[in-house]
Amino acid sequence: MSRRVTVLAAVLAAFLAGGAAPPKAKEAKASQADRIFVGGRVWTGEPGRPLCEALAVRGTTVLAVGKSAAIQRHAAKGTEVVDLRGRFVAPGFIDGHLHLLGGSLSLEELRLDDAFAFDALAARIRDWAAAHPDAPWVTGRGWAYAAFPAGLPSRAQIDVVVADRPAWLVSYDGHTGWANSMALRLAGVTRESESPAGGEIVRDEKGEPTGALKESAMDLVGRLVPKLLPHEKERALRNGIAQAAAWGLTSAHQAGIDGEELELLRRALEAVPRLRVYVALDMERDPTPEALARQEELRRRFSGGRLRVGAVKGYVDGVVEAKTAAMFEPYPGGGTGLPNWTQEELDRAVAAYDGACWQVMLHAIGDRGIDMALTAFEGAARANGTAGRRHRVEHIEVPRTADLPRFRAAGVVASTQALFPYPNQNHLGVYVPTLGPERARRAMAFKAIDDAGAIQSFGSDWPVFTAEVVRGIACAVTRTTVEGTPAGGWEPSQRLTAEAALRHFTHDAAFAEHAEKEKGTLAPGKLADFVILSQDLLAVPPERIKDTKVLLTVLGGQDTWRAREF
Ligand SMILES: [Zn+2]
Repeated sequence: MSRRVTVLAAVLAAFLAGGAAPPKAKEAKASQADRIFVGGRVWTGEPGRPLCEALAVRGTTVLAVGKSAAIQRHAAKGTEVVDLRGRFVAPGFIDGHLHLLGGSLSLEELRLDDAFAFDALAARIRDWAAAHPDAPWVTGRGWAYAAFPAGLPSRAQIDVVVADRPAWLVSYDGHTGWANSMALRLAGVTRESESPAGGEIVRDEKGEPTGALKESAMDLVGRLVPKLLPHEKERALRNGIAQAAAWGLTSAHQAGIDGEELELLRRALEAVPRLRVYVALDMERDPTPEALARQEELRRRFSGGRLRVGAVKGYVDGVVEAKTAAMFEPYPGGGTGLPNWTQEELDRAVAAYDGACWQVMLHAIGDRGIDMALTAFEGAARANGTAGRRHRVEHIEVPRTADLPRFRAAGVVASTQALFPYPNQNHLGVYVPTLGPERARRAMAFKAIDDAGAIQSFGSDWPVFTAEVVRGIACAVTRTTVEGTPAGGWEPSQRLTAEAALRHFTHDAAFAEHAEKEKGTLAPGKLADFVILSQDLLAVPPERIKDTKVLLTVLGGQDTWRAREF
């Protein structure tokens, strides 16, 4: 270590002193690119020079950006020349908030989301069962109550779809399960069974279980579903990482993880090295010196390379639909939500982490929860005399307008999710009414957050929403569904330009992990992490952004995804 520092220092000193010029041959070699990309539209993200035509890559970094003619000069024997033919290049996408294991598993699970008609639901279940003949159970999640005329599904409906093995399908809110007859038989649920405390075995008029199990009664069947083994989770992670690269992601921030999952992630990234992952460990409620030492050990172990531990993540409050997000004013029907901490407890824990040089990420959705998070960050900086920790509030769904300037003033990153304002049936039919009109107007206020001068990092919260960045950018720019509804967008004053949305998914997300000097824009010396897209995000009409294809993803100079058509 010290030897390396000495050598570097000597080189630096020689450089600063304008030391001996290197031999000519060597100089030529140093300016030769491994690959050049010319004839495109390159959005560098650099403030002084946002757009150019071409870039040159050498090793793992960007050698140069500029006009095609200038970049051509970096080509020599052995340099691969790629003609972009007008295509759009951007820095690699960075997802500022996701859950890799949950997201990866969601790729394999049967998903029933957004199937609002029973026939569509049944078709998805049938297709999944046919595609997975060896799966001992047919399991899935995401069905909506609206798909069933009576409000609840029945085993008779699923028996005709899945008869050869047990089936168990969980509703979108996770509060009701739907079993076929075989699953009920395995669980021993009969007309004689009694409903457990805090749950209900739903019955027909003859007293027979219908197959719908509410709340704690879900365990009767749910506990029989085979649990995944570590190697199955690792396999899912490998697929998830490959999928992330196909969506144009070169980096992602893992929002909370335990030691076992971190080890699985390490192994998966070793096998599929197609993503850089910045990790937030689960935040300890009581960060004792022993707990901090344990986490410090992980930070030391994962301090470089593709897997880097640098933050902790905790939860200040819950979510809007369950009315657990902490609010100043009551929800329609009462209740102001449930903060997980008192302000004093939160202040103490945040100050302990801040004092130990940790970045703290706090999930806070309600206006009161957001105020509590900001108060804790401001207090920690004051108490410890620290600055530049870049603590983060995650989600920030319903901030008080007056609290937005506090982000910039305290150097707190606004970590929001581009698809959260996606105005589908759930959003308009459940989320917005639960907030009420006054709060709904200031929800997912992306533009107001930008206007307040905060650094805003975009993410997906995958698997809550897909981590397809193009879909996220489309939503942030239009505030409509992919079908274009509602016309003009939901709360259209909060629409962003495509360039702002791109910046939040690149430079700003890099800033949010203390890495904007290495990545997030395209400039000489920065990591050669970039994407080539099928169309120019800055030029296409907003409603066509969603049709953009990721043609090539490059991570540290290496291709991690290439579309067939490229
Ligand atoms: Zn999350």
